[in-house]
Amino acid sequence: MTEETHRVLRESLGAYVLGHLDPADEEAVRAHLAGCAQCRSELAELLPVASALAPARRQPVTGGPPPQVLERRVIDAVAAEAGKRRRTRVVTTVAAIAAAAALIVVAAFGIATFIDRTPQAPVPEIVAVQVSPQLDLVTASAGLIDHTWGVEVKLTTAGLAAGTEYEAFVLGEDGGEVTAGTFVAIGDDEMLCNLQASLLLEDASGFEIRNEAGEVVISSDF
Ligand SMILES: [Zn+2]
Repeated sequence: MTEETHRVLRESLGAYVLGHLDPADEEAVRAHLAGCAQCRSELAELLPVASALAPARRQPVTGGPPPQVLERRVIDAVAAEAGKRRRTRVVTTVAAIAAAAALIVVAAFGIATFIDRTPQAPVPEIVAVQVSPQLDLVTASAGLIDHTWGVEVKLTTAGLAAGTEYEAFVLGEDGGEVTAGTFVAIGDDEMLCNLQASLLLEDASGFEIRNEAGEVVISSDF
């Protein structure tokens, strides 16, 4: 292994982790990595950057060129700066790749991508729930999820007459109301209803579950 081979292959590592080498060059890098600890440690620094790019490759983006195109443009821009180098010998210092990755990911998804990398179900905010006094066998509890498009009421209830239809409404601070869907009760067994209304939680003051006669059976004030 000559010093020159090491230098050239080391410069290919960035393109290698991004999958931009042709198969022959890729094989050369792989073979070199097996025998070069210095390049392996540099590769270890590049891998997190490449994985940061992975979501950008998978997900479609609206309102802009697809990530692959952006990525290509960044690579091309770096290549243009590199001047005389061959395309696959793009300058790939850690800094250049990190900058390219940050640019692409931020352009495509914003900072939220980093936060949402491991999606977790949002935890509902539990709210107090009142059940109509006439329905003394009915139980109900509810949690709210604050979505960007509105509020979701996760209602757990039991004891409403099986086969009866109910409609949910989220009430607005301004006195208006927005439907949050309907459900058919199943009787004594506990049921979970995910009721979604296109009213932001910050503009909502409560919810009501009404029967077919329009009577409130379950309600909550936020
Ligand atoms: Zn090396």
